[in-house]
Amino acid sequence: MTSWVDIPKDSDFSIYNLPFGIFSVGNGNKKMGIAIGDQIVDVYAIAEQGYFKELTVDKGAFVTDYLNDFIDLGKPVTNAVRLKVQDLLSDKNHSLLDQTKVLVPQSEAQMHLPVLIGDYTDFYSSIEHATNVGKIFRDPENALLPNWKHLPVGYHGRSSSILVSGQNVYRPKGQVMLPEAKDPVFQPSSKVDFELEMGFIIGKNSRIGESIKTSHAEDYIFGKVLFNDWSARDIQKWEYVPLGPFLGKSFASSMSPWIVTLEALEPFKVQGPEQNPEVLPYLTYSGQKNYDIHLEVGITPKNGEENIVSKSNFKYMYWNVAQQLAHHTSNGCNMKVGDVLASGTVSGKEENSYGSMLELAWGGKKPITLSNGEKRKFIEDFDSVTMRGYCEKDSIRVGFGEVTAQVLPAIN
Ligand code: CA
Repeated sequence: MTSWVDIPKDSDFSIYNLPFGIFSVGNGNKKMGIAIGDQIVDVYAIAEQGYFKELTVDKGAFVTDYLNDFIDLGKPVTNAVRLKVQDLLSDKNHSLLDQTKVLVPQSEAQMHLPVLIGDYTDFYSSIEHATNVGKIFRDPENALLPNWKHLPVGYHGRSSSILVSGQNVYRPKGQVMLPEAKDPVFQPSSKVDFELEMGFIIGKNSRIGESIKTSHAEDYIFGKVLFNDWSARDIQKWEYVPLGPFLGKSFASSMSPWIVTLEALEPFKVQGPEQNPEVLPYLTYSGQKNYDIHLEVGITPKNGEENIVSKSNFKYMYWNVAQQLAHHTSNGCNMKVGDVLASGTVSGKEENSYGSMLELAWGGKKPITLSNGEKRKFIEDFDSVTMRGYCEKDSIRVGFGEVTAQVLPAIN
């Protein structure tokens, strides 16, 4: 399938992708958009021309601050809209749409957070990451805690501080225990880190008391985004016992603006790693539930060029999204449209595939040298961190674009 839209080679936004987002131009209203090449399809403009008449969706639904209400219409409707747009953008329908009314250059638009996020949960599902952190923070001999292979460990995060790509992050302040010190001090974190993650967006409500089976999990997932779970390692290390992450995490997380649908990702499913010991029955699954998504992280220092510091892949994850959702609802906890569930740091086996500075620079013992000669153990003020992700198979590319943010000095 080819499109009449001019799509740059290696664009993440091929006609097979068509992810959903929220955009605005100038002081205009926020609207729902679909990315193609380096353009945005203004879905409202297509609706105005009557192309969604057979669907039970009013054109007013496409002028909106968030995608929640659209997603809540359900996959039969959201998939039909996406497939109709795909049909209209294909070569055979070159003459149907007025290009000047329907396409907006991405360079002229501002992207916004695509969903109003009610709840945010973060998992810890990479065995390589959990093992590395266990070695650095605790005990190299017993890096994985006894529960890790029996359940997808997670915690409830903070949704109010989830930012869209391009929004800057302030260095957090907090209590830290300095080496050799007896008492903690309050100061700006000196160990600001990124965590390379993928998030998924809940696409269907579940009821209180209901548990979602792994075989039904995909009905409840609208799509995926890139996710940077910013972390302050010094604050985290001092505060996390015994209840887990708190202020070392809640100051900010960043996500990419385009939600790539599960339907667009379907061709890129792969088998996950073997799980041993065997999991309890409610966590068993059949079929391919992992996704082959190439991931990378770049650090751009102030007035410098970008340095790619990690290349990883989402397929390495030990626990898959179906298991995460089944576990999260196993106690009857309900899910709501727009909730974000993030994967946990995606680390691979190789040292250059680790998904955080904590691991890449091994707790500060192996600093990374940037192309400008500067060294990094963690993220410095004015560094920008950019994450990218894409799938590719049979010359078809489906990607996520990027999530980027610059770290600014702490506010006094
Ligand atoms: Ca995390």
